Amino acid sequence: MSLVKILALSDQVIERVYSLTTSGHFKDVDLVVGCGDLPYTYLEYIVTVLNVPLYYVPGNHDPDFNPRDARSKVEGGSNLDLRTARCNQTLIGGFGGCIRYRPDGANQYTQSEAYQRAFQMAPQLLLNRIRYGRALDILISHSPPFGIHDDNDPAHHGFKALNWLLRLARPRYLFHGHTHFFRNNIAEHETVSEATRIINVYPYRTIAIEQRPFA
Ligand SMILES: [Zn+2]
Repeated sequence: MSLVKILALSDQVIERVYSLTTSGHFKDVDLVVGCGDLPYTYLEYIVTVLNVPLYYVPGNHDPDFNPRDARSKVEGGSNLDLRTARCNQTLIGGFGGCIRYRPDGANQYTQSEAYQRAFQMAPQLLLNRIRYGRALDILISHSPPFGIHDDNDPAHHGFKALNWLLRLARPRYLFHGHTHFFRNNIAEHETVSEATRIINVYPYRTIAIEQRPFA
């Protein structure tokens, strides 16, 4: 059984991550995942030193993506918002943003806008299922799903569209951020729902997952 070691980060710059990156602590990491609301320079530093693929989604404190503006993307990384990618034998999909709580906020969506976005992913997920025998191994998002690791205040409702995507794609993992207050309320940051282990990665976590051959 071969393992893929993932460094997943979200929401807060941790000074210690710089020193752990530089000292070689993460040298066996195969893949870096950014779950949003991080300065892009932080992700760029980590991925430059580790020299591994980086996939990320934008959060509500990140800029709107603009292909002509270099500051709106992470150099050396792939913005996976509403896209899927294959990294060796691991299929990854991304779903950025959070619930709309300000009329002019970037990367914020109402529940119905989030559904519209999720529907756009369906063809890619079905194609993966035909090609590889499964739709996804990992889904990365900024927001948690509705009712899991979320909260009642207007900025921290989870997306119902994510619950829908989990039922459709049945990934083994969902990594998310956004709800960092959450450890004060609830002890766990991991919840298993049907096929998926849902992990709040705030502020960073290393996770080893089993690499499964394609059917
Ligand atoms: Zn956020």
